[in-house]
Amino acid sequence: MATNGQTNGGPAVNGAAYPITDHTFDVVVVGAGGAGLRATVGCSESGLRTACISKVFPTRSHTVAAQGGISASLGNMGEDDWRWHMYDTVKGADWLGDQDAIEYLVREAPAAVYELEHWGVPFSRTEAGKIYQRPFGGMTTHFGEGTAQRTCAAADRTGHAILHTLYGAALKHNTEFFIEYFAIDLIMDEDGRCRGIVALDMTTGTIHRFRAQMVILATGGYGRAYFSATSAHTCTGDGNAMVLRAGLPLQDMEFVQFHPTGIYGAGCLITEGARGEGGYLTNSEGERFMERYAPSAKDLASRDVVSRSMTMEIRDGRGVGKNGDHIYLHLDHLDPKILHERLPGISESARIFAGVDVTREPIPVLPTVHYNMGGIPTNFHGEVLTLKDGNPDHVVPGLMAIGEAACVSVHGANRLGSNSLIDLVVFGRAAGLRCAEIVTPGEKQSDLPANSADMALSRLDKLRHADGSTPTAQLRLDMQRTMQNNCAVFRTGEILGEGRELINNVWKASDDVRVTDRSLIWNTDLIETLEYENLIEQAVVTMESAANRTESRGAHAREDFPDRDDKEWMKHTLCWADVSNKAVNIDYRPVHAYTLSNEIEYIAPKARVY
Ligand SMILES: Cc1cc2nc3c(=O)[nH]c(=O)nc-3n(C[C@H](O)[C@H](O)[C@H](O)COP(=O)(O)OP(=O)(O)OC[C@H]3O[C@@H](n4cnc5c(N)ncnc54)[C@H](O)[C@@H]3O)c2cc1C
Repeated sequence: MATNGQTNGGPAVNGAAYPITDHTFDVVVVGAGGAGLRATVGCSESGLRTACISKVFPTRSHTVAAQGGISASLGNMGEDDWRWHMYDTVKGADWLGDQDAIEYLVREAPAAVYELEHWGVPFSRTEAGKIYQRPFGGMTTHFGEGTAQRTCAAADRTGHAILHTLYGAALKHNTEFFIEYFAIDLIMDEDGRCRGIVALDMTTGTIHRFRAQMVILATGGYGRAYFSATSAHTCTGDGNAMVLRAGLPLQDMEFVQFHPTGIYGAGCLITEGARGEGGYLTNSEGERFMERYAPSAKDLASRDVVSRSMTMEIRDGRGVGKNGDHIYLHLDHLDPKILHERLPGISESARIFAGVDVTREPIPVLPTVHYNMGGIPTNFHGEVLTLKDGNPDHVVPGLMAIGEAACVSVHGANRLGSNSLIDLVVFGRAAGLRCAEIVTPGEKQSDLPANSADMALSRLDKLRHADGSTPTAQLRLDMQRTMQNNCAVFRTGEILGEGRELINNVWKASDDVRVTDRSLIWNTDLIETLEYENLIEQAVVTMESAANRTESRGAHAREDFPDRDDKEWMKHTLCWADVSNKAVNIDYRPVHAYTLSNEIEYIAPKARVY
C-alpha cells in the first residue's frame, strides 16, 4: 500500500469482522471529476497532504462527457463583460441563485479558463489564434439585448479535454489517489464536525478509514434517479446521500434540469452547441415551433423553456415518429464541413444511437434529465452550510462540497448551458484556497470516536447479506419510472401527490432488497445496491421538495401554480431525511440577494424586469 496506513482489527458487525486500514491526511477529496481534481490540485499545491478517492478511474468521471463548452466573458468573438454574464446567470436561475456566489463565479471565470489553457487544454481557436467561443442559450450582451458568444469549446469534447488536462496537472503533485475505492459514509463527531470517511476498496474488498481535517465531497449529480438521463450510470449522488445520513439537509432538490435534446430512446446528449451552430427543432407539421414560444431567442431559449415547449407540442399531438412522442432536431441544412469540424462527436452519437446521418436527416430527440441544480448547500468557499440555532448559514466544520454535488447556489432554479464546467473549476479552486487558509499542514488530529466506522460498516454488512425477495434492479426501475412519470417537466399537485405515495412505497419496499453475491471483491451487486440506497433517499427528497413548492420557477414548472411567487417562495428549500424512520422534514434558507461588490448594484432593478 502506497500510504502509511495501518491495519486494525475492525469492529465485529453481525458477527463478521471487517479489518480496517487507517489513513490520515490533511484533506480528503471524494471524487475525481472536474471539481474534485481542481480542488485536489489546489490543496496539494499549498502543501496539504491530500488524498483523492474515486469509485471510477479519474478520467472516466462524468465530466469527460461534457460536450458544448465552458462559459467565461473573454470577449474573443465580440464584446462581453462579466456583468452581462452575471445578469444572465441571475436571470437564468430565475432569481433563486445566491448572488454573492454568482458574482464570484463570473468574475473568476476568465482567469479559470486561462489557467486551463496554460495547463494544456486544447481549445478550438479563431483565425487569429484566440480561444473560440460559441453562443449558448440564455447568454446575452447588454443585459439581455444581444447574443453573447461566451462558451469556450474544444470542439464538442470540451469535458474530455478538461478532465484529462486536470488529471495530468494533479499527477504533477504529491497527491495520493485511491482509485476504485467506494466511499460509503462520512465520519461525524458528536459536535457535528466531519472527521473523515469510510471507503471500500472494490478491487480487494478491504475497508479503509480516512481521518482528515477536511473532507471535500465532489461526487457529482444523481441523474440516475430518473429513467432517461444523459449522465453516466455512476451518477448516483453518493455524497448527497452521505450528507443526508449525517443528519444534514440537501437544498433545492426539486430543481432538476431536463436537456431538450437527448437522443430519443437512448438518452445520449446532443449538445446545445448543435443549436448554437444553427440547428433547429421541428414538429410533425415541419414547423419551427420555438419561434412561437420564444420569438427572439427561438431555439436558443433557456433549457427549461425549450424542454417545456417540446413537451407541449407532443401533448398537443404535434410530436413526430410512429407514436408522435418526440421531436426532430435539424442539422441537415448546415455546411458538412462545419459539422465535421465543430460537432464531430454528436454526428457519431446520432449515427450510432439513432441510425441517422446528420447531414441528410433530422435527429429524433426528447427532453432528458441532464443536471441537478439541487445538492449540498455551501457558501462560495465550498464550506457546507446548515440551518442551526436560527442561523441559515451555519458552517459545518470539516466538510466542503463542490461541483454538481453542491448547491452553492449559482444555478438557482435553472442552470445555463456551459455554466457547470466553469462552476467546477472556479469553486474547485476556491475550496483549495479556503483549505490553504484554514487547514494547517500536518496538524495532529485527535483520535476518531471508537464507533466511527460503525454506521458505514453496518450498512455495508446489512446490504451484503440482504436476503429479501426484490432484486435491486427491480427497486431501481420502480424508482426511476416513478421519478420520470411523476417528477419531470410537467408537474401538478395531483401528479406529485401520487408520486409521493409511489416513491415512499418504493423507499419502504427497499427493506425487502435481495443481494445475491455475498463476496467483497468486485461485488457489483453490492455496489449497485449501495448506489440504489443513495438514489432512493435523494428521489424521496426531490419528490417531497417538488410537492412542497407551490409556484413555478425555473425548471420547477407547476401547471396548478403557473406563476413565480417571489413573496412566498424566493427562498431555498432545505430537506432532511430521517432514514431510519423513512420520513422527511422541510425548512428554508433565504436567498443571498446581495452581491460581493457595490459595483453591480445598479443592474439589480433592471434585472428584475423579466
Ligand atoms: C452528457 C453531459 C454533457 C454535459 N455537457 C456540459 C457542457 O458542455 N458544459 C457544462 O458546463 N456542463 C455540462 N454538463 C454538466 C457537467 O458536465 C457536470 O455537471 C459536471 O461534469 C459534474 O462534475 P463533477 O466534478 O461535479 O462530478 P463528476 O464528473 O460526475 O465526477 C464525480 C466523481 O465522484 C466520484 N464518486 C462518486 N461517488 C463516489 C463514491 N461513493 N466513492 C468514491 N468516489 C465517488 C466519481 O468516481 C467521480 O470521480 C454535461 C453533463 C452531461 C451528463
